[in-house]
Amino acid sequence: MKNFLRTVAIGILLILGEQRRQAGILEDVMEGKARVVDLTYPLNEKNPYWPVGNYTPFRYEVIANIKKDMVFSGRYSTPEHLGTHIDAPNHFELNQPSVDQIPFEQLVGPAVMIDITDKVEQDHDYVLSLSDIEQWEKVHGQIPDGSMVLLHTGWSKRWHNFEEYKNKDIQGCMHFPGYSKETAVFLIEKRHVRGIGIDTLSGDCGNCSAFQVHHAINRAGKFILENVANLDKLPPRGFTLIVAPIKIEGGSGGQCRIWALAPK
Ligand SMILES: [Zn+2]
Repeated sequence: MKNFLRTVAIGILLILGEQRRQAGILEDVMEGKARVVDLTYPLNEKNPYWPVGNYTPFRYEVIANIKKDMVFSGRYSTPEHLGTHIDAPNHFELNQPSVDQIPFEQLVGPAVMIDITDKVEQDHDYVLSLSDIEQWEKVHGQIPDGSMVLLHTGWSKRWHNFEEYKNKDIQGCMHFPGYSKETAVFLIEKRHVRGIGIDTLSGDCGNCSAFQVHHAINRAGKFILENVANLDKLPPRGFTLIVAPIKIEGGSGGQCRIWALAPK
């Protein structure tokens, strides 16, 4: 009993300490005591895109240049779901907020990173399991309520090769890792996450055709971050995420800049 109480007390102190650190993290960044990790890929015409239906690559053209026009200016076109982007709650569910309606408070908060790179190396169709979360929590403590959860699968190694990134088999079925429906539901119902993220094209795995993770997350009014970069530069917990999506009125999602503020 004594040991149990001591463990609980230490746990509470750790959480309070972490909250205090996170509350001051912006000050720490400005004083050079914390680091900023940009989790955003640069947009360009080589970016992988969702290779189905009417989705198209990113396009950019110069419409004025300094030599000729005395000013440099460009124009671009892109699907909303290309590059590092957010899936708004209305992406897969009716009557849910569009990207411009997601409140700031939902886009800033504590975050954790779950590393499943070892498992994905063995199995490209690997999906996060409840026992992976249990194992993570045994080592790092419970995922704080209201966190954003980032799944590090190692897929970013393929970002610069679209064929390898979508990893289609001869039948045209894609193969890359993802969350399972059970873990999405658990993270919503038991950890009250603000949203989830992943370093692949989709929160669902490549050969998961029913989009159960998208439906579960969007039904709960939550978002998914996709093609998230630089997850290997993050600690497992104790960092703060800032997600800044483009404000497309009524949009189903869109490009966003994502920063992680982490202790040095
Ligand atoms: Zn998307």
